Amino acid sequence: LLRDLVAPDALCVVARGGRGGKGNVHYKNPVRQAPRIAQRGLPGQRVSLRLVYKMRADVGVIGSPNAGKSSLLARITAARPKIAAYPFTTRFPQPGVYFTEHENPITLVEIPSPAGGERDRFLKHAERASVLILMMDLSGVHEPGDLVKRLREIASRFSAYGSEFQAKITCLALNKRDLIRDTVLIERCVTRLREETGFPTIAISTHTGEGIATLLKIVTDACKRGGV
Ligand code: GDP
Ligand code: MG
Repeated sequence: LLRDLVAPDALCVVARGGRGGKGNVHYKNPVRQAPRIAQRGLPGQRVSLRLVYKMRADVGVIGSPNAGKSSLLARITAARPKIAAYPFTTRFPQPGVYFTEHENPITLVEIPSPAGGERDRFLKHAERASVLILMMDLSGVHEPGDLVKRLREIASRFSAYGSEFQAKITCLALNKRDLIRDTVLIERCVTRLREETGFPTIAISTHTGEGIATLLKIVTDACKRGGV
């Protein structure tokens, strides 16, 4: 890494120009008055760079494909990411701004899940976030163990990013609770996942709005503290 440009308008020199040659004024003498001689400058440095762009946002929304990450953004921000009933709808990180009445606005970014076998190109955009929401989908869950299994799959994606990354997870949101009639099952899932991960865990629905206020409270509090 040559330089990490985190501040706005930050500059850095990546390649120095070559030393300039002597201009013709240096060769001027009583007989040589016309500017016909000058020294060539030295070639400048040449470098090949790979530039990596990482989104800056207070909150990163990560999780399984189709969990409802875009739906959450659409609900609480003016962002209108594409939402559809199939995985990998979102192909690029989607930013959004959540305006609160009393606090500073909070910027969020949805991190798309990598499609099967694809390298996790987008998780780097969650690196700069100080707080992460991990979102999972309750649909099709028959017992808490189903979620634990899914969680392990997701967690293996994150392991490459180290424990610091995982420590930023402020909340585990189990979405689509409106699809599960059995409220006892929902409670069991919440308890089990909380035990399994140690993260504050809540069941939410981006459709009915249940749990969203609690989620936002957890997230805004964490942002105020400047991360976890
Ligand atoms: P993403 O891939 O995580 O961004 O998920 P999307 O926001 O695109 O949502 C995937 C699908 O789940 C869409 O068909 C949404 O309408 C649906 N969905 C999202 N949130 C909820 C919810 O709370 N309840 C129900 N029933 N469906 C939801
Ligand atoms: Mg999406």
